[in-house]
Amino acid sequence: MTGPVTVTEAEALKLDAGDPGHRDLFDIPPADGGSYPEVAYFAGNSLGLRPKATRVELLEDLDSWAALGVEGHLDATRPWLPYHELLTGPASRLIGALPSETVVMNSLTVNLHLLMVSFYRPTAERFRIVIEDSAFPSDSYAVRSQARFHGFSPAEAVVRLKPRPGEDVLRTADVVEQLAPDVALVLLGGVNYLTGELMDIPAITAAGHAAGAVVGWDLAHAAGNVPLSLHDWDVDFAAWCSYKYLNSGPGALAGAFVHERHLGEDLQRFEGWWSTDATSRFEMAPESRPPATADAWQVSNPPIFSMSPVRTSLELFDKVGIGVLRERSVQLTAYLERLLAEITPARPLQLITPSDPARRGAQLSLRIGGARTAGELAKVLRYEFGVIADAREPDVLRLAPVPLYSQYHDCWRAVQALAEVVPENE
Ligand SMILES: *Cc1c(COP(=O)(O)O)cnc(C)c1O
Repeated sequence: MTGPVTVTEAEALKLDAGDPGHRDLFDIPPADGGSYPEVAYFAGNSLGLRPKATRVELLEDLDSWAALGVEGHLDATRPWLPYHELLTGPASRLIGALPSETVVMNSLTVNLHLLMVSFYRPTAERFRIVIEDSAFPSDSYAVRSQARFHGFSPAEAVVRLKPRPGEDVLRTADVVEQLAPDVALVLLGGVNYLTGELMDIPAITAAGHAAGAVVGWDLAHAAGNVPLSLHDWDVDFAAWCSYKYLNSGPGALAGAFVHERHLGEDLQRFEGWWSTDATSRFEMAPESRPPATADAWQVSNPPIFSMSPVRTSLELFDKVGIGVLRERSVQLTAYLERLLAEITPARPLQLITPSDPARRGAQLSLRIGGARTAGELAKVLRYEFGVIADAREPDVLRLAPVPLYSQYHDCWRAVQALAEVVPENE
């Protein structure tokens, strides 16, 4: 019988001492009653942890309201009227875009809809939408409802890309091959939520354009996880949420990107008073004058106290830099993979995430066999070992070592726990 991992706990702790990340800037949930004071948190791809600064800065914004009432729109420490502009710069740098191409607003699926109003303009000949078969359900529902809204049958309009038989992730060449002349829109996840596969965004975008399609990306699992160059990659539009790798809190405001090429174009758009140019907004005119920026996709005045945690978090990413984080992420994920490789061959555990670091972000997904479902396994990890992983029933366990706050010792704990909990094959 092979034992649990051969790497000692002391070795993992030594790696942490040499490469501590920014854990000190975050509140790590306690693991009551376990062997360690804090949980080993691997669910940052689902809900990122809270930066300590978030509470302080959110209270400052709340107190401006108490002290100033309506005058806070102009006189708050961070005035509310232009508050969203504080987020535009750091968000644009994070995704490799111009500030004029970037806006933080609404939530992710809402942004996908608002962007599809502009960028899904089907005709009788060109009406299909290409997504992954393993798309997050919200994306699937969104594109199906868009097809129906335009009078098409969702079953006919939506093309779902499947990996080859016996494979878990999509090959770029297979995606490209599906981009037929009837495809109006390609809308894929930059990093797949289930498998952790990082798609070749520039290659697929270029192939989509060559086929005459519009190409949008859902970056829910990519933003804050991997470096992006949306402008240079010529992506038409993109949207992402801020509560996963961007640590901005449950249901946090999302982002949207529209390429400069489309700014100022005469596109269909759903508008409200925040779509109009800020300088003339209070003229209360009957017709909008949208600016030639992504701000034109805004509809309502934004929720300041929801923007506050996004601002705090984006400023942290801006300070540390996604390039530096990516380097640490590659190290941490490779470490987790190496430890897993010691225990998976003898157990019903199979890594389905690509092993090439260039084709994945921070997440490793395991397909689990044996008696327990992924959910049951996650519960044991949580309540017996203080390891928080994410289960997608029936059989996928997702582990995301997040470079801002996860540690080598967390990886060691997770693999040690899996080794103890998952029995070896007979
Ligand atoms: C997390 C996630 C969502 C969630 O959508 P919301 O509108 O934020 O509720 C949607 N799509 C993908 C790909 C996701 O990973």
